[in-house]
Amino acid sequence: MEKENCAKPSPERWHFGHNKAAAVAGSRSLRGAINKVITCVEETGPRPVIPLANGDPSVFPSFRTTPIAEEAIVEAVRSAQYNNYAPTNGLLSARRVVAEYLSKDLPYKLSPDDVFLTAGCSQAIDITVSALARPCANILLPRPGFPMYEARCTYNNVEMRHFDLIPEQGWELDLEQVEKLADENTVAIVVCNPNNPCGSVFKYQHMEEIAKTARKLGLMVISDEVYDHLTFGSNPFIPMGVFGDVVPVLTLGAISKRWVVPGWRLGWIAATDPKGILIKTKVVDSIISILDITTDPATIIQGAVPQIIEKTEDDFFNNIIHILRDAAELCYNKIKDIKCITCPHKPEGSMFVMVKLNLQYLVDISDDVDFCSKLAKEESVIVCPGSALEMKNWLRIMFAAEQTSLIVGLERLKLFCERHGKN
Ligand SMILES: *Cc1c(COP(=O)(O)O)cnc(C)c1O
Repeated sequence: MEKENCAKPSPERWHFGHNKAAAVAGSRSLRGAINKVITCVEETGPRPVIPLANGDPSVFPSFRTTPIAEEAIVEAVRSAQYNNYAPTNGLLSARRVVAEYLSKDLPYKLSPDDVFLTAGCSQAIDITVSALARPCANILLPRPGFPMYEARCTYNNVEMRHFDLIPEQGWELDLEQVEKLADENTVAIVVCNPNNPCGSVFKYQHMEEIAKTARKLGLMVISDEVYDHLTFGSNPFIPMGVFGDVVPVLTLGAISKRWVVPGWRLGWIAATDPKGILIKTKVVDSIISILDITTDPATIIQGAVPQIIEKTEDDFFNNIIHILRDAAELCYNKIKDIKCITCPHKPEGSMFVMVKLNLQYLVDISDDVDFCSKLAKEESVIVCPGSALEMKNWLRIMFAAEQTSLIVGLERLKLFCERHGKN
């Protein structure tokens, strides 16, 4: 980031003005990139816009959350028990339930004190990066990745170093590259599993390799598991915390994706670290300090979360998985028929797939952003340009949509490619 000394006293009428640091960080945001594409949609057409960019399927009727979750909110409101401020780390009853929820998949038990509630997984990212942002620190980030990490590192002056996910190897991490990138100022490596944007799910053995590499390099693992349990291929979901005795892990999560309620803003940071290294090194203290100077998720949702987590029935989760599996299958098969894009790896988790744009088959498209803008303008279909995720000339397609919308959206994508294709 550009460093500026204090500005000279302003000769202008008003002394305040544009904060360049905010603009630079904001320019890395996913919302900004997708909004630019959306502005290209022609208002005149009678055709409905098909949103295949944002990871928010709550707009589609088949992705409505469970009535149990809705009831839990109503009851929390009616009880008049949750009109107060909550403690900065979150209500004990809510932290206890999140600790139990995460412990089910771990070989050890988390205590409520290992859990910190946040306003969605986005604030978990914000707080984690802020807590680690000491001068000269650097963090290793995946490419492609989730741009909130880049935005937060930029704003906090934390250097970021990107390692690649390898498409031909099911989007596994290039661990040789990781070893080359790390130095004595590298504090953490970020992984996301099930993966946004690639739709991949790590195998146990690969996760063990990640943990051992991080241990060798002296880094903690920041494991973004906001898509926990949203898997529908052959690899089951395994939390990184399973390797907590090899390397300390901060697990980030939320109810946003699995319960399809991203607007409810309830997430968490969990220290999945049975050896207590994050306590000894005072990382946990730093997290608590940052929590003390930020706002909490609304107490109402904290009050409702025990019921939401404990009472949701498997039927609801199974149904969502079923829809996602069908959607991923449909999307993968339709993409095979479209010459200008290639999918290197069938999605098996999350809600996304990465496809490579074959520019050599297209006549008047200059890059991924141009492709997405023209697709929005001509076909009212919104997909995310890969350059927003550090992958120029790739696209991210979100397939968690109503089946009819998905079919129409991919059909229009195909027509668009044919229209702009070389004969
Ligand atoms: C959606 C998402 C988040 C943010 O989650 P919220 O709970 O909506 O704030 C974080 N990480 C990844 C990888 C995501 O896809």
